Amino acid sequence: MTAQLLDGKSLARTIEKTLRDEVETFAKVRGRRPRLVVVLVGDVAASGSYVKSKESAAARVGIDSEVIRVPVTTDTLRLVSLVQGIAQDTHGPADGILVQLPLPAHIDTLAVLDAVPADRDVDGFHPENAGLLSQGRPRFIPCTAAGVQRMLIDAGIETAGKHVVIIGRSDIVGKPLALLLSARGIGGDATVTLCHSRSADLPHLTRQADILIAAVGHPYLITASMIKPGAVVVDVGINRVETDGTSRLVGDVDFTTVREVASWISPVPGGVGPLTVAMLLANTVLAAELRLGQT
Ligand code: NAD
Repeated sequence: MTAQLLDGKSLARTIEKTLRDEVETFAKVRGRRPRLVVVLVGDVAASGSYVKSKESAAARVGIDSEVIRVPVTTDTLRLVSLVQGIAQDTHGPADGILVQLPLPAHIDTLAVLDAVPADRDVDGFHPENAGLLSQGRPRFIPCTAAGVQRMLIDAGIETAGKHVVIIGRSDIVGKPLALLLSARGIGGDATVTLCHSRSADLPHLTRQADILIAAVGHPYLITASMIKPGAVVVDVGINRVETDGTSRLVGDVDFTTVREVASWISPVPGGVGPLTVAMLLANTVLAAELRLGQT
C-alpha cells in the first residue's frame, strides 16, 4: 500500500481563499484591515523564515502585518513592556499579537506570553485560551493543533472512536491536540494516548494507533515497523538535516518507508506547516471580528 498524501499546502490555499473574502468584508465594514503584530527577537534563521512565511501569507489574504524586530540582548522586562505597549495599540491597531518562539534562554518566555492579552492571543497560548480549549469551548486554538484537526476533517478521516496516538506533550502542539481530538464533535471524539520522552516502549504504543501524530523534533524517529498497517500518519516535526552536503527539512517520520505501510501521510515540507500559518490567519481574522463590537 502506498499512502495518500495529506496535502497541507493545497488545503492552506483553499482556506486562504475563504479568508480573503472575510477580510474584504471586514475592511468594507470597518474601514481598515485586520492587523497582526509579530515580535521577533534575535536573528535565529528558522524563526526569521517562519515569520517571513507568516508575513507573506497575511499579505496574500489582505491582512496587514508588522514585524517588530528586537535585538537578542533585550531582557524580560523590556520585552514584557513592549508587548504591553503593542496591546495598547501604540504600534497601530493590533488585533492579533504573536511573539515568535523560541525566545532566547535568558528570557522568561511565560512572562512574555502572559503579557499578550487573551483576546489578541492568536497563537492560543494564554492560560485563558488554554482553559477554554480544555473545557471544550475554544476561542483561539493553537494554530498547529487546529491545522492538524482541519487536515483530518478535510481528508474525510474519521476520528470518532479511533485511537489517536500523539507523540510530544508540548503546550504548543501535543497537549492542545490531545484536548481537541478528544473533545466532543466533528474532528473529535477520539480516544487519545499522549506519549512523551518518558513513555515506555514507544513502538508498542504507536502500533496501536489508528491515527499517529508525531510532534517531537527528532528526524526519522518514526519508522515503518512502528506503524499499524493502514494507519493515518501526521508528521508535525520540522528538522533540518544535512545529506551529501545539502541541507533540507524533514519531519519526525521516515517518510519513504512509512508511506508504504500507512493509508494517509503528511509530507514535510508541505504538510502541517502551511496549515499552521493558515490557522494563524484565521485566528487573526477572528480576533479582529471579536474586537468589532469593542473598539
Ligand atoms: P517541544 O520540544 O516543546 O516538545 C517535544 C516533545 O517531544 C516533548 O513533549 C518530549 O517529551 C517529546 N519527546 C522528545 N523526545 C522523545 C522521544 N524520543 N520519544 C517520545 N517523545 C519524545 O517541541 P514542539 O514545540 O512541540 O515541536 C515539536 C516538533 O514540531 C518540532 O520539530 C517543531 O519544529 C515542530 N513544529 C512544527 C510546526 C509546524 O507548523 N509544522 C509547529 C510547531 C512545531
